[in-house]
Amino acid sequence: MRCLALDIGGTKIAAAIVQEGKITQRQQISTPKNNAAEALHQSIALLLTEYAEQFDYVAVASTGIINQGILTALNPKNLGGLAEFPLKASIARHTDKPIGLLNDVQAAAYAEYQLQGRDKLANFAFITVSTGVGGGLIVNHQLLTEPNGISGHIGHTLADPNGPLCGCGRRGCVEAIAAGRAIEAVSSTWNDPCSPKEVFERFRKNDEKATALVARSALAIANLVADLKISMDMQKIAIGGSVGLAEGYLPLIQQFLNEMPEVYHCDLIPAQFGQDAGLVGAAYWVKDFLFAPLQGGGYD
Ligand SMILES: [Zn+2]
Repeated sequence: MRCLALDIGGTKIAAAIVQEGKITQRQQISTPKNNAAEALHQSIALLLTEYAEQFDYVAVASTGIINQGILTALNPKNLGGLAEFPLKASIARHTDKPIGLLNDVQAAAYAEYQLQGRDKLANFAFITVSTGVGGGLIVNHQLLTEPNGISGHIGHTLADPNGPLCGCGRRGCVEAIAAGRAIEAVSSTWNDPCSPKEVFERFRKNDEKATALVARSALAIANLVADLKISMDMQKIAIGGSVGLAEGYLPLIQQFLNEMPEVYHCDLIPAQFGQDAGLVGAAYWVKDFLFAPLQGGGYD
């Protein structure tokens, strides 16, 4: 089965033909900013025309929340002119092939899950710690997406009720403490301000302030791992993202986790997929749902 996979991010849109996890004909364009909705309709029309006759189905991984085929977000203002964009309908104008859509981090989780062997592992999670914190949850071999596309937004679980206000409007979310943006919010106020990248450089040189800031982030993620283990019996969790994969960060999460009672322990691994996780994961997931519907769940 040949898949036309699209990965719609805040700054770029990637498109490729994906077959059995292999990517060909990859291209990338900028996500429209001005007159964004109309421009995205046009970009989708062009891509669908360009790849016409070369695919059997369409799979879309997108930033935000995909609810009944429509693009939204916890904070729709972040989507600019693309809030409430009818993504599925826009694609369906140009093809009569089956279309499936899901959130990009959910898709990445599904890609990482394929590497583990679906039959070997029933419960698996992916946590990305980057500008924000996101995730995807696989429970009993199924990626959780239904009914409203919200599942996996684990960056918005509680880390500290007295913590900073999160972009979602709630106080003290994991994202507001662990994310690159949260690290920057602190490091930019220092007498010797620096970027998150430099915070990590200072952390690796044992700078006290930088180490405390990185540890605050890693502890929030370790607690998130523990919460996922105890609530869903997660067997393995992959950690990704620019912060998550920064040298020295994963061992720190591991260290904090080791200090907790054993029932909270969970195998941690670095995420393996790079920038194409969304394309590959969406292609696998949509195929599994479209062509094996008896496995449960659905697509829209
Ligand atoms: Zn939040």
